[in-house]
Amino acid sequence: MKILCIADEVDPLVYSPRIKERFGDVELVLAAGDLPLEYLGFISSMLNCPLLYVEGNHDGHDKADALQWTHFSSPADEGARNIGFRLIREGGLTILGLPGSIRYNRGPNQFSDLAMALHILALAPRLFFERLLRGKALDIVLAHASPLGIQDRDDPCHRGFKSFLGLIHRWKPAWFVHGHVHLYDLASPRSSEEGPTTIVNAFGHWIINTEKTA
Ligand SMILES: [Zn+2]
Repeated sequence: MKILCIADEVDPLVYSPRIKERFGDVELVLAAGDLPLEYLGFISSMLNCPLLYVEGNHDGHDKADALQWTHFSSPADEGARNIGFRLIREGGLTILGLPGSIRYNRGPNQFSDLAMALHILALAPRLFFERLLRGKALDIVLAHASPLGIQDRDDPCHRGFKSFLGLIHRWKPAWFVHGHVHLYDLASPRSSEEGPTTIVNAFGHWIINTEKTA
C-alpha cells in the first residue's frame, strides 16, 4: 500500500491542482502534525482516501489565527481523522497515533517523557490483544516527535522521547513516521532502521510503501 506522509509544512508539490497526477495511487495519508486542517481536508478530498493525523506542538489556535485559517469545528467533515493516543485499524493496518512534542514551555500538546510513557502504557492491553489476534501489535506508529537520539536535535524543543524507544523495542512496529524536526536540506537522509522498524521523518512530504508489512 502506498502511503503519503506529510508533516510540518504545507508542501507546494502536494497543495497543488496537480495533486492527483502526482499522488493518485496513494491509498492512505498520514499527517504527522503542525499542519492546518484545511490542508488536510484538501488532500483527503482531492485524493478521495482516508487521512489520519496527530496534532503537533504548533497545532493550537494561535497558529491557525496567524495564518488566518479557520479551524473546522468538526475535522471529520473534511475526511481527516485525529488518532491522537488511539490505536485504530485502517486499510488492513494497525496504526497508533502519538501527538505532541517533549515539554519545553507551557504551550499546547507538550508532554513530559513520563506522561508520554503513561499514555503508551495505557494502550498496552490493546497492543497485547492485537498481537494475540494478528501475531503483531502494530504496523505503523504515527507520531509528531521522534524517538530520543534518532533523527532528533539537541535543543529542548526538538529532543525526542525516550518512551518512544521503549515502544519501538517492545512492540516492533514496521514503520515509525514522525515530523517536528525540520529538514533544511531535503536531500539529507530522513529514514533509519531500528531493529525491524523503519523510522521516517515526513517533513514536507514522503511516500512509504508498506509492502514489508504484508
Ligand atoms: Zn513540532
